[in-house]
Amino acid sequence: MKTTMKTLSSHVCGKPHEAESDFAEIHDPCTEEVIARVSSAGIDFAAVVAYAREVGGPALRAMTFAERGKVLKAMSKALHDQRKDLIELSMRTTGCTRKDAKFDLDGATGTLAYYAGLAKSIGDTHVLFDGEGDALGRTARFFGRHAYVPKGGVAVHVNAFNFPAWGFAEKAAQSLLAGMPVISKPATSTAIVTERCVEILVESGAMPDGAFQFICGSTGDLLSLLGPQDVLAFTGSADTGLKLRSLPNLLSNSTAVNIEADSLNAAVLAPDVDSDSETWELFLKDVHREMTQKSGQKCTAVRRIFVPKGRADEVQEALTGLLAGTVTGNPFDESVNMGALATKRQLDDAVAGVAKLANHADVVHGNGERVDGAGADAGKGYFFAPVLLRASDARNAGAVHEHEVFGPVATLLPYDGGGDEAAELVGLGGGMLVTSVYTNDTDWLASYVRTGGCTSGRLYIGSEKMAPLGPGSGLAFPQSLHGGPGRAGGGEELGELRGLGLYMQRVALQGDRKVLETLA
Ligand code: NAP
Repeated sequence: MKTTMKTLSSHVCGKPHEAESDFAEIHDPCTEEVIARVSSAGIDFAAVVAYAREVGGPALRAMTFAERGKVLKAMSKALHDQRKDLIELSMRTTGCTRKDAKFDLDGATGTLAYYAGLAKSIGDTHVLFDGEGDALGRTARFFGRHAYVPKGGVAVHVNAFNFPAWGFAEKAAQSLLAGMPVISKPATSTAIVTERCVEILVESGAMPDGAFQFICGSTGDLLSLLGPQDVLAFTGSADTGLKLRSLPNLLSNSTAVNIEADSLNAAVLAPDVDSDSETWELFLKDVHREMTQKSGQKCTAVRRIFVPKGRADEVQEALTGLLAGTVTGNPFDESVNMGALATKRQLDDAVAGVAKLANHADVVHGNGERVDGAGADAGKGYFFAPVLLRASDARNAGAVHEHEVFGPVATLLPYDGGGDEAAELVGLGGGMLVTSVYTNDTDWLASYVRTGGCTSGRLYIGSEKMAPLGPGSGLAFPQSLHGGPGRAGGGEELGELRGLGLYMQRVALQGDRKVLETLA
């Protein structure tokens, strides 16, 4: 299907903004054709920040949680109503399969709907209490209680390319519910989808004026304008994250910064899992999906697979069998079940990344080069088939524990079998978003959690009873925290109301108990 060239619009100060110069180009990942151009030239960022602080912020803070929840519900509905068209657009412009496009879009609408539901349960209040409180003096009257109130500034959201709908929506859901206006910037390469989502939301009238502004292209001097009541929430590479969190004004103002970055996620098979068990099947199915879903361009994708030493051949054979059934190519071709990488730079990085890992592990499936895609012209498209590597020495596997290849690439790492040892080896990844362990042995699990619970933001436990239920480790449920220590950025999002903490100030209230009760 031919795609026509488009100039993407930002949406700032209550109206669309189309730039006239300094364009970056967006390429169709399947044909390499230029399909859109993006620029933020001409945007007055000081005016954008002022609009959020002076128009959007007061409007949101005047609403109760329940009223903000209605905004989120309307946003979820507006996007869901256009689901079919948005999925087509995503397939056509980002090179992902229909399943992957649904995963992104349903993640967006599902998270908005989830927070809308939470808001309803909080009800018509402006203050969120934290705990029941305590008497502070000799009598019960002098009382202390903690409460959350919205920060008075603006939340800037900078998102990664891999989830153009889910990425912006999950951050917006938490910020808007907390009562903070948003300035959202999508990654350029997949911004066509985000821009269309924003157009739908603006047309729907779901959001109060100034509550949500959208910047396509560079952030210009926006980040240098942030101060003590503002927030920066970033998702992307560790390198960019470091650059942004080190900005002098953010440091000197103690501006709240949340970073979601790289992650060398692990899957661990425990020694108790027999190859004729349901847990074994779950492990293989999950690892295969977590390697290939979204062509491996998922922050939660499995990058390292730890297996007991005597089982490595068996796992390698089973996994290569599954990977052989992965057909890479144009998502509109019926044989295809894995799409393209998003950009030429992602493709080049994946090729270079596999070469780096190959200094410490053998390639046992795939070749780590660009391939021609099914249903695409020969020599065109950013196609990259799955690669499995195998290291002989898990402890000294160098780059395997240090370098994230953002594509369908993972490395098998044999270990001796103990839960403590597995946890220690997983920890060499320097901090992960998620680790999945597959076991029915609760003693083994306890020894893993004791040592390894601190190195991942989330632990997914695959077992016999989970086999028919588990969606795998890749799904960021709004009920559970998303984020991880160390290399993963040290951030936290989602996790029910926990995700709102970034956008709110926790204040210790002290005074007459009866007076404090009136705030509830
Ligand atoms: P990236 O190159 O770091 O870009 C991320 C975002 O930052 C994009 O919107 C980009 O805009 C913007 N950006 C880059 N330089 C900037 C600057 N100097 N000032 C302001 N904004 C700037 O990362 P990516 O290639 O899009 O994403 C892939 C990476 O994201 C992977 O490493 C992956 O692990 C990570 N990721 C992490 C999570 C998580 O939740 N932990 C989720 C998804 C992805 P442009 O596109 O316009 O350059």
